[in-house]
Amino acid sequence: LSRRVPQPSGQDEIALLARTANATLDRLERAVGRQRQFASDASHELRTPIAGLRANLEDASMHPEDNDLRAVVDSALRDTDRLESIVTDLLLLARIGTGASAEESIDLAEMAAAEIARRTFALKIRTDLAGDVVVRGVRMQLVRLLGNLLDNAERYADGIVSVEVTSRDGHALLAVTDDGAGIPVADRERVFERFTRLDTARSRGAGGTGLGLAIAREIAHAHGGTLRIEDRDHGTRFALRLPLHT
Ligand code: ADP
Repeated sequence: LSRRVPQPSGQDEIALLARTANATLDRLERAVGRQRQFASDASHELRTPIAGLRANLEDASMHPEDNDLRAVVDSALRDTDRLESIVTDLLLLARIGTGASAEESIDLAEMAAAEIARRTFALKIRTDLAGDVVVRGVRMQLVRLLGNLLDNAERYADGIVSVEVTSRDGHALLAVTDDGAGIPVADRERVFERFTRLDTARSRGAGGTGLGLAIAREIAHAHGGTLRIEDRDHGTRFALRLPLHT
């Protein structure tokens, strides 16, 4: 969005057109900036009352004499957890792509191996990680992207999750595949929208925010890449493509 049309010096129609195009880009950029600022301000504002609510509820849950009250308080505490996750995710969404975080060279195989080692999996995990697949990016964001895909894969897999890093057609490719029920073709774009959760038994029970894939795709785009669901006979395969850093 920050690129501008070169401005010819004259007063002819082309110069006028270039000026109009640039003025429109300026307005768009300011509008996007205001929207991001709003999401960021709102998230910060929401944090304080949520923290207060949590403190009061935790205090109340220390007095377990009344079982009915205790149940109400515990349920309110779970709602507070959820609110907190949504606010954290919204704040992250507002920050992606603002250039506020430092970029570095990242070896995708090393990053994936470290993230997998850090986690404990309740199911079988297969890896096929090629070396020397290096990209430029914000490490924390790319780890988060992979984390969101792994969270989902674990939630929806029947028994096996596989993670692949390779370079293909001049791009870096990182793919996370599970052997679960899959995502119907008609829903494959919709799941990347904010707050979309498919109405399946597992999604309902899963307690996510519905923001995980929106965040993952936003991070992919901010890095000049794409995140898509690819066809499989069985299960789901998320493929992240990023420009290779040479
Ligand atoms: P959340 O997981 O918090 O609900 P996401 O944005 O990560 O939100 O995912 C949106 C929805 O996409 C999920 O609720 C689920 O219905 C569907 N989904 C995501 N990943 C998978 C997967 N690996 N297999 C099947 N469905 C999935």
